[in-house]
Amino acid sequence: MIVDATARFSTLCIHAGQEPDPSTGAIITPLFQTSTYVQDGLGRHKGHEYARTSNPTRAALEANVAALEGGSHGFGFASGMAAINAVMTLLAPGDHVVVTDNTYGGTYRLFERVLRTTGLDFTYVDTSIVEATVAAFTDRTRMLFLETPTNPVLRLADIAALSAAAHTRDIVVVVDNTFASPAVQQPLLVGADIVLHSTTKYLNGHSDSVGGMVVVRHAPHAEWLTFYQNAAGAILSAFDSWLILRGTKTLAVRMAAHNRNGQIVAEYLSTHAKVERVHYPGLPAHPQHVLAQQQMRGCTGMVSFTVGTLDRARTVLEQVRLFALAESLGGVESLISHPATMTHASVPVERRDALGVTDSLVRLSVGIEDVDDLRADLEQALARL
Ligand SMILES: *Cc1c(COP(=O)(O)O)cnc(C)c1O
Repeated sequence: MIVDATARFSTLCIHAGQEPDPSTGAIITPLFQTSTYVQDGLGRHKGHEYARTSNPTRAALEANVAALEGGSHGFGFASGMAAINAVMTLLAPGDHVVVTDNTYGGTYRLFERVLRTTGLDFTYVDTSIVEATVAAFTDRTRMLFLETPTNPVLRLADIAALSAAAHTRDIVVVVDNTFASPAVQQPLLVGADIVLHSTTKYLNGHSDSVGGMVVVRHAPHAEWLTFYQNAAGAILSAFDSWLILRGTKTLAVRMAAHNRNGQIVAEYLSTHAKVERVHYPGLPAHPQHVLAQQQMRGCTGMVSFTVGTLDRARTVLEQVRLFALAESLGGVESLISHPATMTHASVPVERRDALGVTDSLVRLSVGIEDVDDLRADLEQALARL
């Protein structure tokens, strides 16, 4: 390794896990698009035998993201959901998990429709309240599964306080860090045990790959996931690994631009007469603004706001030109979406209302275009209300 863990974040983004290719000197880790590796003789090989088990491109990405999160090992999976499913195999039937109540819809579906049938039990709580979270722990609780900030109303969980409380009961703390990325917060460094990502979002950052990553810091977790990744086989492909490695190189500069544009757009919306309410941890009016300043370095490009009615939301969603109407987030281009009918359609309406996912809520993934163009686009769309 040409850098060690003492290097600063943006240096790690570019160099961690990567060395010039020993056979050619290529500065970029090659795309090892191969299924197998020729062995020198029986039992003599160069460290790789079969590409499900190991691939040098994937290994470079795994080492890179592990360094960015401050963990010991990374594991690449075929999607964010496959990464979450992998982490849940650390549990056994009868185990109980406390989960952030407005967790990603796909996570809720996996837990309720798939993993409940295998004997796991889940309780959903508002993890923005430490006492409410601790009150949900039972003698069977083995894991605390946090998402912070949450989608789409951007509530925060205090990772350090919750990790300390969970560890007094030997509860493993898992953080889905997809919405923040390690440029904004590094949960393992403040007490969490496992971090996972949908690399589809900020880590890859260019809307051209689907993938997932798990980073751990305890040897037993690393041992199990090494075994499980190969045994179950939902690995990240070499090509996706190569694309995401290109994405993480610019993570520090992209997140700085997302943070800046997100803050400016949130401030603009919060003073707009046609906008009812803005959710953004970087605004002083956010209920956890103080925690955001302690826990996060910038508040990302995720902003959501309400405009009163579904019809008015539809007008904004259909009149913007630069913001593309699409699911997903975290790419360099700005997206706009309607959580109630798009990402949260499978959540029952009472539950949606309780979580603040109302019909007039609009979600932005603010990209890194010139922020004056983004503001002008929102201005012309809001002017039609
Ligand atoms: C997108 C997303 C996932 C799922 O990831 P996929 O790559 O789509 O499987 C999980 N958690 C969060 C917070 C997400 O945004």
